[in-house]
Amino acid sequence: MLNLVLFGPPGAGKGTQSEKLIARFHLVHLSTGDILRAEVANQTTLGLEAKKLMDQGLLVPDEVVIGMIESKLDAHPHSQGFIFDGFPRTQAQAKALDDLLHRKTTSITRMLALEVGEEELIARLLNRGKESGRADDQDESVIRKRINEYTTKTEPVRAYYAAQGKYTGINGIGSIDAIFDSLCQAIDQSVASK
Ligand code: ADP
Repeated sequence: MLNLVLFGPPGAGKGTQSEKLIARFHLVHLSTGDILRAEVANQTTLGLEAKKLMDQGLLVPDEVVIGMIESKLDAHPHSQGFIFDGFPRTQAQAKALDDLLHRKTTSITRMLALEVGEEELIARLLNRGKESGRADDQDESVIRKRINEYTTKTEPVRAYYAAQGKYTGINGIGSIDAIFDSLCQAIDQSVASK
């Protein structure tokens, strides 16, 4: 199986690149942000609770997202692999993901981290807010809060995968196709060296 963690701050381009990677490598896309937004749209109990945190730019509790990921993994037993987008966002989530995959006799192949500076991120997110209507992209203070959550809670996940020798940094500035090429090269290399 090819199991990728696509990592990077809000606005780094994870969603855009995920779509292209799924098409190329025939993977199932697991975006905790998308799953949570679907829960919010359907006004489930989980969605109503999550919305309060998401609107403030705060992370949803680990147990909630880990449970969501587990049920999505179980829903695709014959997949050739998964792309994890926006997950894991804390070291506890990373550990839980390792345990889940281990139970399914598989593991993470590689973490690919898109690197983009803070001012570029804010500009991209404000622009996305105008186009997509996503509430958490429309308010600069919420965007800064999300970047702060990323820096304090999510950034350590990088070290978690680096310690396993699974981390690759990718420059996230440039054309969509050029970044996609860098990602594909990194994936081909890690598959070849297995
Ligand atoms: P972004 O575009 O900012 O990277 P996402 O679309 O991935 O954000 O997620 C939007 C919001 O959903 C986050 O700000 C957070 O509140 C919540 N969320 C998504 N994934 C997770 C996760 N793995 N752990 C905790 N909260 C999450």
